[in-house]
Amino acid sequence: VSTWTNVPAGPPDPILGLQADQDQRKINLGVGAYRDGDGKPYVLNSVKKAEEILRASNPDKEYLPITGLPEFTKNATKLAYGVDSAPFKANAIASTQSISGTGALRIGGAFLGRFYPHSKVIYLPVPSWGNHTPIFRDSGLEVRGYRYFDKKTVGLDFEGLKEDLQKAPERSIVLLHACAHNPTGVDPTRAQWKEISDIVKEKKLFPFFDMAYQGFASGLTDRDAFAVRLFVSEGHQIALAQSFAKNMGLYGERAGAFSLTSADTEEKSRVESQLKIVIRPMYSNPPLHGARIANTILSRPELYAEWEAEVKGMADRIISMRERLYNELTKTHKTPGEWGHIKSQIGMFSFTGLTAPQTKSLAERAHIYMTADGRISMAGLNGNNIDYFAESVSRSVK
Ligand code: PMP
Repeated sequence: VSTWTNVPAGPPDPILGLQADQDQRKINLGVGAYRDGDGKPYVLNSVKKAEEILRASNPDKEYLPITGLPEFTKNATKLAYGVDSAPFKANAIASTQSISGTGALRIGGAFLGRFYPHSKVIYLPVPSWGNHTPIFRDSGLEVRGYRYFDKKTVGLDFEGLKEDLQKAPERSIVLLHACAHNPTGVDPTRAQWKEISDIVKEKKLFPFFDMAYQGFASGLTDRDAFAVRLFVSEGHQIALAQSFAKNMGLYGERAGAFSLTSADTEEKSRVESQLKIVIRPMYSNPPLHGARIANTILSRPELYAEWEAEVKGMADRIISMRERLYNELTKTHKTPGEWGHIKSQIGMFSFTGLTAPQTKSLAERAHIYMTADGRISMAGLNGNNIDYFAESVSRSVK
């Protein structure tokens, strides 16, 4: 008999039947990757230009240091924290390159599990990105939830959130989506962020920001860094996971960064020495190409400007799809129910409020695929499929 006879099959892919379906009308709104106005994957011009520059420089393929390309991590933290932030100016941000956002979260989980002295409990919003729980559980932390989403209002459950954070044991770790919350598309307002910061301070919680969508929410990278920068300016020490998958379209290149603000340069060096010890047995050192691309863009003003315009272009296309979907659902198809959240939600995703049976019937009858919780990627909609999508959704709820 085989050694693996007793290995049970894992649960099936959540977006069932998608691959097999070859219908012309098929729409895949399950995947969290940007699509252009023709429904095609999009390689940014700034990325293509950066690759040309890199090719011309004929780079070698030597190993990177354990914590990655130093200029890249420097520029990544600059993008997130801003040049004016105190720890950036003081050279007190410990950072490392990571295998995109996922790897950053995993390094962060492992580091906190080993060195955060006060607690091994991390609070996640309910719901959160589906990978958060296994990432932190596998890092050795105990995962608990705080209320985030109110099904009735299809908006933020701010009272529930505050109550749960206030009830959490002092010094627990709390994971916060910096912007464009996945899967709900619901973000706190600036005033609400300030209140969250106050509770975090009062309860001495440790804030761990996941910023996978900087630029994707508003179209402006500075604006989307508001929460991170507010917390830092309020004096919190934070952990931060960054991804360049979405905002540079570098999904498969796996370019990301993990960072921690520390007291000073000496402490930063100590923390980085331990980050190396966390990383080395995981994968020795990170991949080259994505970090080189991102760094080329971040360090050249003309490419940076072009990139920022492209981020804005992606965000604006998504926002225009929200507007159009809302109009189609309410005006053209007179769909029963309240659909204002389609317009007010932020970032790549929208929590439509569609039920699991409705999503199933959309898959089976209309060849439209989304996650069973009713989350759609707005980026999968375009001028060619949005009418059919709205009509089908309308039919499924009538
Ligand atoms: N955090 C959140 C909230 C995400 O939605 C994602 C991507 N779906 C990630 C982190 C990590 O993505 P990646 O590893 O591709 O950067």
